Amino acid sequence: MDELFATTRLEKAVTLDGMSISLLLNAGLSVETDVSTNDAVDGIGLFRTEIPFMMRDRFPSEQEQVICYRRVMAGYVGKPVCMRTLDVGGDKQLPYFPIVEENPFLGWRGIRLTLDHPEIFLVQLKAMLRASQGLDNLSIMLPMVTNLDEVRVARRMLDRAWREVSAETAEQQGEIRYPSLGVMIEVPSLLYLLPELAPLVDFWSVGTNDLTQYLLAVDRNNGRVASVYDAFHPAVLRALQQIIDAADRYGKPVSICGELAGDPIGVLVLLAMGYRRFSMNNSNIMRIKYIVRQSRFDELQKLLHEVLNQQQVGAIKELFSRYLEERG
Ligand code: PEP
Ligand code: MG
Repeated sequence: MDELFATTRLEKAVTLDGMSISLLLNAGLSVETDVSTNDAVDGIGLFRTEIPFMMRDRFPSEQEQVICYRRVMAGYVGKPVCMRTLDVGGDKQLPYFPIVEENPFLGWRGIRLTLDHPEIFLVQLKAMLRASQGLDNLSIMLPMVTNLDEVRVARRMLDRAWREVSAETAEQQGEIRYPSLGVMIEVPSLLYLLPELAPLVDFWSVGTNDLTQYLLAVDRNNGRVASVYDAFHPAVLRALQQIIDAADRYGKPVSICGELAGDPIGVLVLLAMGYRRFSMNNSNIMRIKYIVRQSRFDELQKLLHEVLNQQQVGAIKELFSRYLEERG
């Protein structure tokens, strides 16, 4: 099977009836972003910056961050690289910045923490901007956004970082492009704020791991309730349809960067819903590309409409699984 996937390595991810898909990489270690991967994907859809932070014994300096981010962006010249700002808290701890809480997944996580520590946030934004100089392939994404004010404040911080970095560097090395700014849709409150969120940012990316966790009130890492954690739950699927419909309505580019994008059945359902950009771990890229190339968009769309018309949202997984099996 690996050989079969390998034959599609450099092919485009296009369905049999010509629907073109962007396949992007989820990364966080520079080893995953080396040249053996970059020619098989359309860019990086999620660079988890907390991973390099977690592998150290102190906060990396601005210059150390510049080196790390530059290496990633330079490996993807001409392709988009979406860097997520620090998403620590929850299950991701920094050894040198312990957070002790009763409910870590509902606590001081992601943007909540970085907005409380503007010095950490500002250094990271500046490092990303400096690293992007001359490459122009950076976009920045905010994790765990719950309120619109978080986005407004983060935007002001990015404005400030960009002004300061531009003032320091413009004369010697040319301009630094202002990057596009997006948010992760992973806290359910945003589902009810999409019309107001749309004008504040340039793109959305759906974090199905956390969206599932928070919609279903089930810890994504707790084996005891693993059977309740289900990204194919009708409520999650309806939320995903709502997001893509709103993205179309407000003209917002949207991608999926949770595990569902790298799931063979998940990607077909998402494709049928209208999603076109999928970001996933390196290990899933070839398989998903192969599956996309064996599928027909018109058939997938028809299948989805049939189940939705019959109000059978609970049966979606089974029906798409059968479709997948029939295509080998
Ligand atoms: C997600 O929540 O789906 C996501 C991609 O972010 P992480 O898994 O890093 O929380
Ligand atoms: Mg998440």
